[in-house]
Amino acid sequence: MAKIVILGAGIAGHTAASHLRRKLSKQHEVLVVSPNSNYQWVPSNIWVGVNRMNYKDIIFPLAPLYKKKNIGYKQAKVVDFWPEGNESHTKGFVNIEYVSESRKGETEQVDYDYLINATGPKLAFEQTEGLNPGQNDVFSVCTYNHAVHAAEGLEKLKALATTKNKKIKILIGTGHPKATCQGAAFEYILNVENELSRAGVRDKFEITWISNEYEMGDFGMDGMLLSYGNETMSSKDMVEMVFNDRNIRFIKRAGVYKVENNTCYYENLAGEYKEETFDFAMLIPAFAGHGFKAFSKTGENITDKLFKGFMLVDANYTSKPYEEWTVQDWPETYQNPNYDNIFAPGIAFAPPHTISQPRTSKNGTAIFPSPPRTGMPSGITAKLVADNIIDMINDKHKTPHHKGSMGNMGAACIASSGFGLTKGSAISITTFPIVPDYKKYAKTGGRDLNKTFGEMGLAGHWVKYSLHFAFLWKAKMRPFWWLIPE
Ligand SMILES: Cc1cc2nc3c(=O)[nH]c(=O)nc-3n(C[C@H](O)[C@H](O)[C@H](O)COP(=O)(O)OP(=O)(O)OC[C@H]3O[C@@H](n4cnc5c(N)ncnc54)[C@H](O)[C@@H]3O)c2cc1C
Repeated sequence: MAKIVILGAGIAGHTAASHLRRKLSKQHEVLVVSPNSNYQWVPSNIWVGVNRMNYKDIIFPLAPLYKKKNIGYKQAKVVDFWPEGNESHTKGFVNIEYVSESRKGETEQVDYDYLINATGPKLAFEQTEGLNPGQNDVFSVCTYNHAVHAAEGLEKLKALATTKNKKIKILIGTGHPKATCQGAAFEYILNVENELSRAGVRDKFEITWISNEYEMGDFGMDGMLLSYGNETMSSKDMVEMVFNDRNIRFIKRAGVYKVENNTCYYENLAGEYKEETFDFAMLIPAFAGHGFKAFSKTGENITDKLFKGFMLVDANYTSKPYEEWTVQDWPETYQNPNYDNIFAPGIAFAPPHTISQPRTSKNGTAIFPSPPRTGMPSGITAKLVADNIIDMINDKHKTPHHKGSMGNMGAACIASSGFGLTKGSAISITTFPIVPDYKKYAKTGGRDLNKTFGEMGLAGHWVKYSLHFAFLWKAKMRPFWWLIPE
């Protein structure tokens, strides 16, 4: 009998738990440890953040589902890792701390045969002074609670539009020189713009995009060349076209380092220190590792065997210049190189290098996007980790057999830009592969143009809206959920 412990119940953790439970016989134990009592379908936070969707429509409680499906669940957070066990544990274990009301603060040692670390990123608001959601009129949509507050902030602003003569300023983008998740901010700014237009108050607002991207449409993936109808177009031109169409100003190459009293302070790549005022801002924070520590059997600190900020996996972490990095450096099995029963799918694994070209300002500040890890690869990597563990438990393969790298995986970024089955619209960008392969697709910016394309229109919105229902169906493990791809 094997015990598989999964840390985190986001897209990666929940996907891994679902597949493990479906495919493994009951004699094996599947246990999830995660602090939030709810599953949240994060992409729909954007619609919660403009008051088009209730937060209750994008979450559901984990405990009843896990009970029904025979998946163990502890509403707790992992604190540290003991992969070799200790004097009293022969097996590896993790220390966890309960966060549920009834057991708050209680700690426990949870041992395992296989461990899946799917704890995603730490939303590191503290890395930017004054960026805390709700403070200084700056908001976030990274969690459903944050999105609810952002929607309230936006409603107040709409009310203000009827009385204020001066233009009301909205600032949306990245709130740290190395923040990622530009796609989510892009989707949010388009939705906000659309809501204001629909409310008939658009002319009362000045809307500005701020980002650490060297060029618009970089998205942390070094931008892309796209098939667009019968033509090819760069993501830079596409995004600029969309912003110009909607009268959205943009500031690029900006590393936001402080937010204070409706003022955002940033340094640009030219080394200038500038500021931008706003009445409402939504700025994506830095995504960091959680800062977990690991210990050997004797209690020695061995954090560097497990973590490099995020968790170490089968990537090539050799330090080398950007030009020498290759797509083969990216991991395929998400197995830790030092402990072969530990895996890290989704955002939890440490990327080997940035995808966007690293750049520093004249003052030496690194200002460029970190690599994004979107929903589709999070689900795919979680499923393949689950399949490898199943094979290892069943003695089918001793080493991970199922493989998938972000260098041979695609991503679809569908940014809804208006809500409603007839009034909706979306900018859809499909990219293959996520990590550009500059050798294989040398003439097309590292991407396959047959599978990398941009589209605009109502159909994209329908797709995004359908995905909301399909993925919640899947997450709730409703009949035939496993037929819905990751
Ligand atoms: C606003 C927004 C919109 C997005 N829109 C899209 C989109 O349209 N399409 C797309 O493909 N991607 C989108 N993404 C990205 C997508 O949401 C992420 O790729 C995905 O959520 C990553 O999944 P994950 O499971 O790795 O991490 P997460 O979803 O962050 O899950 C991490 C889990 O770990 C838990 N956890 C945290 N700390 C601990 C701890 N100490 N112990 C145990 N558990 C812990 C958390 O509670 C959570 O359950 C969006 C992201 C944001 C923020």
